[in-house]
Amino acid sequence: MMSRNSRYTILVHGGTVSGPEAVTEDRLHFIKYVVETGRQRLAAGAAALDAVVEAIVSMEDSGLFDAGKGSYFNRDGFVENDAALADGHTGRAGAAALLRRLKNPIRAARLVMERTDHVMLAGATGEQVLIDLGAELITNPSAYFTPTTTASVMPDLSGTVGAVALDTDGRLAAATSTGGTRHKLPGRVSDSAIIGAGTFANRSCAVSATGKGEYFIRRSAAADIALRAAYAGMSLQQSADYVVRELIGRQDSAMGAVIALGLDGKPVISANGYGVLHGHAADTAGVCTGARIAT
Ligand code: ASP
Repeated sequence: MMSRNSRYTILVHGGTVSGPEAVTEDRLHFIKYVVETGRQRLAAGAAALDAVVEAIVSMEDSGLFDAGKGSYFNRDGFVENDAALADGHTGRAGAAALLRRLKNPIRAARLVMERTDHVMLAGATGEQVLIDLGAELITNPSAYFTPTTTASVMPDLSGTVGAVALDTDGRLAAATSTGGTRHKLPGRVSDSAIIGAGTFANRSCAVSATGKGEYFIRRSAAADIALRAAYAGMSLQQSADYVVRELIGRQDSAMGAVIALGLDGKPVISANGYGVLHGHAADTAGVCTGARIAT
């Protein structure tokens, strides 16, 4: 039974940052705009799923992040995009991977969830199915994609984008979109597209990750965060800190960060390196953006 209340929150990330030089004003300003717009949508009664999809679409279109227009090229000089979304209330999820010609990978993931019986479609054949289902095609990909410049300051990492939201009906949703790691091998799929690794939501929390995807996949990181909070007596913040800092950070020596929301709507942000570009807005507080996470 859904209970209508006045509580809502949107929290987004724009990827991990290796140091202060990667925290650019244009990205922070854009994140501010995204969360302010998301807050207005949620205040007007939008579903958490719609709020996270629209937030990701605008970040994909901005060219400022390693997702959609700003995606990094792979080793062979072309873009292969991945995205996923999870609707915590219904338990449904959708993902699309290795997309070369679609404008909004997150909308493609939504098409998979809503218009097929599957969870993920990938590669050229999956992309063709999505085009047949109405996904917006880029007519000239080599002219459209203009990789964002964060690569110069963090060669191994990206400006993956993610969003989590709680709506006024108590529903949670998560979405993540990425061009993946710079110079990745063709055919490599990121954690962002894998439900339970870089993206996860259920009825108690929603999680979106960024960082070295291979480690998030190996550790089923996003699901692990949700399940520790459900069964191990940890708060969502403690659970996120344990997985991001202790497991992926200390034990794996890999960089990573997550954003998460529970039913209390309190933003959870955890990073094991310098930080993660993030922003949030809620019924209870004004827009807040930043990058550094106190460790
Ligand atoms: N997780 C992304 C990937 O592995 C990269 C990132 O978020 O920095 O493709």
